[in-house]
Amino acid sequence: MTKSSFALRRCRLLGLLEERKSGAAVFSHLPNVRYLSGFTGSNAVLLLTGRGATLFTDPRYELQAAEEVDCPVKVVRGSLWPEVAKLVRRRKITTLALEAEHLAQAEFARIAAGLGDSVTLGDVSGLAERLRSVKDPHEIEAIRRSMDLCGRAYLQTLKKIKPGMTENGIAAELEYRMRRLGAEKPSFETIVAAGERSALPHAQPTGSRLEANQLLLIDMGACLDGYASDMTRVVHTGRAPRLVKRLYDAVLEAHLAAFAMVRPGVTCSAIDGAARKTLKRFGYDQYFQHSTGHGLGLEIHEAPRVGRLIGDVIEPNMVITIEPGAYIPGTGGVRIEDTVLVTDRGAESLTKVPKDFLVLES
Ligand code: ZN
Ligand code: ZN
Repeated sequence: MTKSSFALRRCRLLGLLEERKSGAAVFSHLPNVRYLSGFTGSNAVLLLTGRGATLFTDPRYELQAAEEVDCPVKVVRGSLWPEVAKLVRRRKITTLALEAEHLAQAEFARIAAGLGDSVTLGDVSGLAERLRSVKDPHEIEAIRRSMDLCGRAYLQTLKKIKPGMTENGIAAELEYRMRRLGAEKPSFETIVAAGERSALPHAQPTGSRLEANQLLLIDMGACLDGYASDMTRVVHTGRAPRLVKRLYDAVLEAHLAAFAMVRPGVTCSAIDGAARKTLKRFGYDQYFQHSTGHGLGLEIHEAPRVGRLIGDVIEPNMVITIEPGAYIPGTGGVRIEDTVLVTDRGAESLTKVPKDFLVLES
């Protein structure tokens, strides 16, 4: 990542701000601060005006900011916002947009009071997220490597999984492998759910043991160079009953139907609809209660949301997940999830782990 790419992003964002007739904005959501400045620490805000950007952070990050950031840095003891207000007044800024969605109401009120009556406040929520939804080549490369690493950790672990292991034990093994292969951390808390618990779409791993003749759902992702990957696979220990096989086939078909819809120009709801229509044909649509997918990048869930009634249009170089599922209480759940890159004419799955129904022989 060259420092000049941050300047380019800020330049594009300023263009969007001008369209909204706002001359200046402050970004406080850390993934946006990172995206616009390169700063990876845990305390900073970025003031962006037509005259340039200034990053505010505290003394713990003085050296780190000097290394990472390509704009002027102001190191502040105590709260950052009074210093932001001082600079806003000094530059005679009269309209200032904040990321209201990412600020608690009390915090917003405090900031407004600090800025005083001479500044009209606006809302810049979602604007940096809109830029972030289309990835640049460097970001695509990072997600590709993150996904590759995650897939390798999964396949290495799969060889070791046996009935008798706990969900927690399997999750620990997956996360250990990811770190050994170079991940900074998992991109979210690894989900491992055995048997009937696989019907809980967001099951936290427990101490319960994997048994023979059970479904096992694993949803995992790596974080590499700050970029997330995300995949879900479901395997069965021992021969699967016909109902389970049918459930798997239905979800796989829904996954492939949604994937086939992905190309520039289609809406998110059309992709979601393709998955839902397929599951309906199998009579499983009432067991699919979440969205078909989500964007991912610096955060595990980001724009666009690939769900029902979402009119957002898919663009080249977006990275989204495709993850339909069906969860039958008392039987179990199947979800098949890939991380998918939108190309100029279609899509490429960055998740190379096979999706065929897999039986783990014990
Ligand atoms: Zn996932
Ligand atoms: Zn996901």
